[in-house]
Amino acid sequence: MSDTHPKHERTLVVVKPDGIQRSLVGEIIKRYEQSGLKLVGVKMLVPTADFVEQHYTLDPEWRMKTGMKTIESYKKKGKQPPSEDPLAITAIILRNLTKYLSRGPVVAMVWQGMHAVGIVRKITGGTEPLTSDMGTIRGDYTIDSYEVSDVDGRAVRNLVHASGSVDEAEKEITHWFKEGELIDYRLINEAMIYDKELEGILRA
Ligand code: ADP
Ligand code: MG
Repeated sequence: MSDTHPKHERTLVVVKPDGIQRSLVGEIIKRYEQSGLKLVGVKMLVPTADFVEQHYTLDPEWRMKTGMKTIESYKKKGKQPPSEDPLAITAIILRNLTKYLSRGPVVAMVWQGMHAVGIVRKITGGTEPLTSDMGTIRGDYTIDSYEVSDVDGRAVRNLVHASGSVDEAEKEITHWFKEGELIDYRLINEAMIYDKELEGILRA
């Protein structure tokens, strides 16, 4: 299969400091692992505030998208957002996010496989734990909301980061990992997921 086959799609996951402190690293890895995706890189580090800011601003649209998502979420609940200007909202979020992610160790990983970006987002759940679906990591293992994090002047604590698109994933992986830190290997489970004929299970 060529390198452009969908089984080569990759995405970045970062277990944030609250995920480590809540002893959820194993549970989080288990959920992605059991989906059938392949872990191709993993490491623990304490990122600097500058590194975190660069990570979130790799996508020039991130400020606008995240600000608009926050405003929409407030309005959906019949509440007034802290500002009507998406960029004013993300200026504060970014400041709080750099603090949040540089406070302690995080575990960064790269998962590979068919639809890796979409599958990982589905397993991770929506950004705000108050409204993330049950059955997702953010919906099952933590509690937080935009409202309370805004009152407290901090970022929403939602245990993990997961890339939002294939393009974002490619940029983020390059930001977090050097080429030699990602391993190209065969995983026996892949035969079941990608093999076209599914021959060889029964003894001849
Ligand atoms: P996601 O992590 O789901 O891709 P975003 O990229 O929009 O979400 O935002 C990045 C991170 O910023 C979120 O995971 C969360 O920790 C924090 N965040 C986003 N929106 C807000 C908000 N309105 N208030 C506080 N923190 C926020
Ligand atoms: Mg995002």
